[in-house]
Amino acid sequence: MRAVVFEQYGQPADVRKVADPDPSRHGAVVRVEATGLCRSDWHGWMGHDPDITLPHVPGHELAGVIESVGAEVANWLPGDRVTVPFVCACGRCGSCAAGDHQICERQTQPGFTHWGSFAQYVALDNADTNLIGLPEELSYATAAGLGCRFATAFRAVVAQGRVAPGEWVAVHGCGGVGLSAVMIAAACGARVVAVDVAPAALELARAFGAAECVLATGGETASAVQELTGGGAHLSLDALGSPRTCAASVRSLRRRGRHVQVGLLPSAAGDPVIPMERVIGWELEILGSHGMAAHAYAPMMSMVRSGALRPDLLVTSVIPLDEAPAALAAMGTVRGAGGVTIIEPQR
Ligand SMILES: [Zn+2]
Ligand SMILES: [Zn+2]
Repeated sequence: MRAVVFEQYGQPADVRKVADPDPSRHGAVVRVEATGLCRSDWHGWMGHDPDITLPHVPGHELAGVIESVGAEVANWLPGDRVTVPFVCACGRCGSCAAGDHQICERQTQPGFTHWGSFAQYVALDNADTNLIGLPEELSYATAAGLGCRFATAFRAVVAQGRVAPGEWVAVHGCGGVGLSAVMIAAACGARVVAVDVAPAALELARAFGAAECVLATGGETASAVQELTGGGAHLSLDALGSPRTCAASVRSLRRRGRHVQVGLLPSAAGDPVIPMERVIGWELEILGSHGMAAHAYAPMMSMVRSGALRPDLLVTSVIPLDEAPAALAAMGTVRGAGGVTIIEPQR
């Protein structure tokens, strides 16, 4: 098969022929029809992820068709249209037994713990626990973004963030996950304040339902959010993952507000300075959110099917596999306009 491979961190990847994967006993091999380009892939390529060993194939947000399954797989057959959360759970540890597959103690992640989906085929572990069937009307390009940014945003806003109609929700960083959060929070009846450094990203945020936008150009974004919301957001998300946006998110909250950390904060970025005196004095909640378990997809999928959520609108560019190495490298230098790039490995 053809795959995007890198041999050294931060050095150009190339597209080359490698061996086709085989399914493990409980796993499946999926023919990748679409796979999203994500900031986490860039972090992995830069060497910020300790799970990666070289040489490596990135890619963790995918949709496709099952090519083959292992002998122990009961629920899936070749030909099924599927997607998968970026956290593939073991299904048997204590966290999985509690239903918290998204923080599985023995999780695997395609594109991190093993070769990922910037390839014509990808091997996925524990198919019965992790695969999610796709309705016919959902395109592969749209479905590819569900397993990482969209599901992550859904859990962050709905489950961890406990959003309620009429609340103010601040979203710091309007890339793929941030725009997803804007759309989901607005669909849940919240009033959204979108914050980003790029006017184009804020334009998209407004189109996806943001009531207010704050252009973060070095100024005090937290006080701007405090002012627009009449005393602070009920819920605020750091959807970028930087010490600056994390602190700004916490400072955007009103009393008893909830901060949800969604963007990755790799140690290479430095530790955020959290105003803990305010966390105590205002009884703030600091929460993390890490993907979403396959078994929790149904409410999100029904909102997608009804048209209340439109993940298709997030896809702003579709490229062939040959253009993936350059697009991956460009994530570090080019400030995106907020949309999502989808790679189609079969072309
Ligand atoms: Zn991702
Ligand atoms: Zn587990």
